[in-house]
Amino acid sequence: MPKVNDVADIVDILGVGYGPSNLGLAIALQERNVGVAADDRITSVFVEKQPEFRWHPGMLLPGATMQISFLKDLATQRNTRSEYTFIEYLSQQERLTHFINLQTFFPSRVEFHDYLTWAADKVDADVLYGYTATEIAWKGDYFEVVVASADGAWRTLRARNIVLAGGLSPTLPLGVLPTDRVFHNHRILDHLAALPEPQHGKFVVVGAGQSAAEVVSHLHQRYPDAEVHGVFGKYGYSPADDSPYANRVFDPEAVEDFYSSSPRLREQLIAYHRSTNYSAVDLALIEELYSREYGERVAGKRRLFVHGASELSTPLEADRGVEVSVLHRPTGRRERLICDAVVYATGFRPLDLHAILGGLADDCVFRPDGTPEVERDYRLRTNHMVKGGIYLQGGTEHSHGLTSSLLSNIAVRSGELVESVVTRSMRHAVLTN
Ligand SMILES: Cc1cc2nc3c(=O)[nH]c(=O)nc-3n(C[C@H](O)[C@H](O)[C@H](O)COP(=O)(O)OP(=O)(O)OC[C@H]3O[C@@H](n4cnc5c(N)ncnc54)[C@H](O)[C@@H]3O)c2cc1C
Repeated sequence: MPKVNDVADIVDILGVGYGPSNLGLAIALQERNVGVAADDRITSVFVEKQPEFRWHPGMLLPGATMQISFLKDLATQRNTRSEYTFIEYLSQQERLTHFINLQTFFPSRVEFHDYLTWAADKVDADVLYGYTATEIAWKGDYFEVVVASADGAWRTLRARNIVLAGGLSPTLPLGVLPTDRVFHNHRILDHLAALPEPQHGKFVVVGAGQSAAEVVSHLHQRYPDAEVHGVFGKYGYSPADDSPYANRVFDPEAVEDFYSSSPRLREQLIAYHRSTNYSAVDLALIEELYSREYGERVAGKRRLFVHGASELSTPLEADRGVEVSVLHRPTGRRERLICDAVVYATGFRPLDLHAILGGLADDCVFRPDGTPEVERDYRLRTNHMVKGGIYLQGGTEHSHGLTSSLLSNIAVRSGELVESVVTRSMRHAVLTN
């Protein structure tokens, strides 16, 4: 493998992944460094495996909207005067007045993607696009991180602190192997673009969450002659609770409440409010799907089928298609389908810390259930050998609550991370003087 030049300098922060979380951090860092003497500025570099900034591009379905208010952008809740707010973006695009007339808090996902890309282009940050962080080691005074590009080039970077923001990985049910026709929803647009013209005129979508319902809706519109079968274990799609009091679980203050609760209370709180985020669908989309299905009943020409209380057999590749059967659990009735594709909207799992940290994971403290011990400032608890901070953006639902993998708290959390790095480096300077 060719090795490209090492970066000799040790930066204060090395961010792994450059999605919205570490983009929010880059903005908070830039704003913190304004007016600070050069020697006291916090230095940083970010590594992103994608070739450019992209936010879940495979799910930018036409018409899909954000699940949070645009005011929960990358900056507003930390600094209302930031140059990186969604309102500033709208103003720069000369769309502010038009957006106001829309009378919504929930922009389209396509527009929010454009906002994030605008912010990534604008912020003054060193980002190594096209590189994956593959190894992290503690070298006594700093972390050494090996990063590799897809064409085999690699280099090492050094940093006093690491911020892991690698996002979530798609999961398929046990025994389901991905193929060109059997895939997770996360990259559905790419898969559909590569799919030959539908032969069987049938699609199956597994799952009962927001993404599943969005994919059902998209396939139904995109293939006007095809049947679309939604299959899931619940009796029906159920609405996401975005009512004002329940929405408080996403407030910055909720992180404090959650963190100071006992493990048992945390579990209870997550269970009470699961329907704000998991296996739940926007009510408007549920009503829209139901009304389409009802319209088809009236017209006597059905092609949208929602199979609740059901489960899907493991897909088998058939002649230019996939064979599955849908079991209706209450009656035991089975329906065999040969379809063009099966889409699994079956969720995600957090970044595998053991995979990314390798041997360094042995220096971190894990709980019996495998989740890491995380300090309030999002630092992994480590043994005393590791002096640098390994911070997590994501993967802290068990300790910091439901905002962990969402956009809701990025602005405030980024500010807290910067504050923690600054405070800890000042303490280090005092101790070493
Ligand atoms: C379709 C979809 C819609 C969503 N809509 C909303 C919403 O409306 N509201 C909301 O709050 N949340 C939403 N979410 C949740 C989502 O997790 C957040 O929106 C957001 O993506 C979190 O940002 P992140 O930076 O933590 O993770 P990500 O956006 O996943 O970014 C992580 C980045 O790290 C990179 N990476 C991973 N490992 C490495 C490595 N080893 N080296 C280098 N780079 C690496 C990845 O390529 C990726 O770009 C949605 C999720 C999906 C899938």
